[in-house]
Amino acid sequence: MKSRLAIAGGRPVREQMLPYGRQTIDDEDIAAITATLRADYLTGGPWVGQFEAAIAATVGAQEAVAVNSGTAALHAAMAALQIGPGDEVIVPALTFVATANCVLYQGGSPVFADIEPDTLLISPASIEAKLSARTRAIIAVDYAGQPCDYAALHKIARRYGIALVADACHALGAEYQGTSVGSLADINVFSFHPVKAITTGEGGAAVTNDTELAKRMRAFRNHGMSTDFRQREMAGRWGYDIETLGYNYRISDLQCALGVSQLRHLPAWLARRRDIAATFDKAFGQYPIVSPLKRCDGRTHAYHLYVVTLALERLTVGRDQFLQALRAEGIGANVHYRPVHLQPLYQQRIGTCAGICPGAEVAYSRIMSLPIFPTMNQQDVNDVIQAVEKVSEYYAV
Ligand SMILES: *Cc1c(COP(=O)(O)O)cnc(C)c1O
Repeated sequence: MKSRLAIAGGRPVREQMLPYGRQTIDDEDIAAITATLRADYLTGGPWVGQFEAAIAATVGAQEAVAVNSGTAALHAAMAALQIGPGDEVIVPALTFVATANCVLYQGGSPVFADIEPDTLLISPASIEAKLSARTRAIIAVDYAGQPCDYAALHKIARRYGIALVADACHALGAEYQGTSVGSLADINVFSFHPVKAITTGEGGAAVTNDTELAKRMRAFRNHGMSTDFRQREMAGRWGYDIETLGYNYRISDLQCALGVSQLRHLPAWLARRRDIAATFDKAFGQYPIVSPLKRCDGRTHAYHLYVVTLALERLTVGRDQFLQALRAEGIGANVHYRPVHLQPLYQQRIGTCAGICPGAEVAYSRIMSLPIFPTMNQQDVNDVIQAVEKVSEYYAV
């Protein structure tokens, strides 16, 4: 029997909207920030280095450069690789706009590669088809938290002598064949926005084993200065050289103290995300209308997002209407993402148009992200499943 949808005046599955993601903050996090407020340095102090060391240790890489957003980390990566006018960087079409914007910041040209239809990860075959004599780098995105096909990506990068950057903003804590995301590409970028695996409010990091790239990114976040304020103070010097153009992309000690405190929880939070995903998989695994994405062997998933595809041929409505109905039931479903090449900025600036990445365009018409975050309780998880089933049954052909 079909029950009346909340969008048509029926009773919603839940009264309070469940967001698709949210942060977890405990008393220790709050104590870490308040203690830092009483310390000598609010920014440029010891917490920055401690947070960087903790991130590097977590992912098994040599250096982490912490900055004030994941976007700034992507920009720093492009600058360190000396991307500039005339250079092309291949990015997946289905990603957050920052993955492509960072190329534009440097005056380079993003070139959009298509995605695999079952995982929504960047397609190595499409990358090969989009390579040119001007290609300088690939930015791969571990979409939803599942690592890309790094073996295939490395093979391409090595064969053509170009850099591999991982936009790993979804994938802190994931692994590819036993190696942590964060030590798989030449530069690996994380975000600490509140919906991500851990948060610093706003924040990000670029992680690398290359000391020269790390040095350039450290200067880039601080106006291009080769030393920071505290280093000069300790050396009793006041002068500095500006040899390259940088920005103020510094992250504060308040944020880094929070980041160190948050990292304690990463293993437990990942485990909880995986538990929730397993419950969804069980509920939707055999379901004809809503299907989870494919998971690949040898990769562990960080489940930043739990993305499903809708079997539109079995529904009387499109994705947008389905999503609105779910929201009316109190489930804050979302879409990640509108393909970047369809954004007006890209159509106007670099002349992209519909049809250049058909896989991403088809996926976009069918995908939806369901709520997943560590503090969701069993009732929240059940509400999501119940609402998806309610809306699916109502709109089933
Ligand atoms: C969150 C995110 C970013 C940017 O991170 P901010 O910290 O919000 O600047 C970049 N790429 C992807 C894929 C993301 O999900």
